[in-house]
Amino acid sequence: MLELTSLKEFLAEPKQIVITTHPKPDGDAMGSSLGLYNYLILKGHRVNVITPTDYPSFLQWLPNNDKVMVYTEKTDESQHLVATADLIFCLDFNSLVRIDEMGNYVRESKAKKVLIDHHLEPEGFEDYRLWTTSACATAQLIYEFIVNEMGERQFINEEIASCLYTGIMTDTGSFRFRSTTSNVHRIVADLIDLGADNTLIHQLVYDDFSENRLRFLGHCLLNKLEVLNDYKSAIIVITKQELEEYEISTGDTEGIVNYALSITGIRLAILIIERTDVVKLSVRSTGNFPANEICKKYFNGGGHKNAAGGFSDQSIESVREKFDLILPEYKTQLIE
Ligand code: 5GP
Ligand code: MN
Repeated sequence: MLELTSLKEFLAEPKQIVITTHPKPDGDAMGSSLGLYNYLILKGHRVNVITPTDYPSFLQWLPNNDKVMVYTEKTDESQHLVATADLIFCLDFNSLVRIDEMGNYVRESKAKKVLIDHHLEPEGFEDYRLWTTSACATAQLIYEFIVNEMGERQFINEEIASCLYTGIMTDTGSFRFRSTTSNVHRIVADLIDLGADNTLIHQLVYDDFSENRLRFLGHCLLNKLEVLNDYKSAIIVITKQELEEYEISTGDTEGIVNYALSITGIRLAILIIERTDVVKLSVRSTGNFPANEICKKYFNGGGHKNAAGGFSDQSIESVREKFDLILPEYKTQLIE
């Protein structure tokens, strides 16, 4: 591992840079990637943001979104850029397995790799690391990278500030999760001073529901929510057929799991979605209950203590049934 301070020297000359992040990128993944992109192009580097998959339309207003390349849409070009880059920034994920096929090309690339992330247990593939689980969002680390490591707060313009604000806002559940320290509020205040329009950003991200998406949410809450009071848990199972019926696209299911957690007394919320290739899980918890442990142990996944995810190759019915065994195993912790 190289000292992060030497990255500043490395970046003193124009470089060919790739920025990548996790599949189905969320607000933090895209806000961090485009925040860093907008900073590095100001510095005269040639930069490409490559996402492993597509991402929701409510993130597509982010400044310079039109420059983002999606690996699955431009595979050859993406592979070429990864292979010939001088430097690859890996943002908001901690293991190359997480970025699917693209991970192999990143691993093989002769480029120096930088990990900027806040997830537990990084794999250790990188040359430079800016990592701490105490950060509320990767976007916070990008802010600290520009301000503290590079010493260039003066480069943060309205575009960069808007991207980083979006990352912090979305990863902190609009500044309410435990990770939202007073320091985070100071950073957010600084981003507003630097040009982030907080009211507009909230509107662009959270008030961009299609009619279908809102009706689908209603359907999930009315017809699909299963409340298991004995386990202080709630489960929502969504089938492929329902996704098709309501014309649900990427990102439209984001946030649904949080409604299940908002019921008084519920400590564990589980959203099970039948995607085309796999069954995807989103798990949320309150307090000390380890959502990530369940995802790691049973569903090839992981994440944070209170927000985790995973997937299964089994049928959606058997994934749901698995919880009939998992919940009793965790009953003492759930009802304590
Ligand atoms: P979400 O439920 O929003 O998809 O994911 C919540 C968190 O769980 C993410 O920030 C990420 O840390 C983690 N996560 C989601 N899916 C996976 C997965 O398939 N593998 C791992 N290791 N973590 C995941
Ligand atoms: Mn994040």
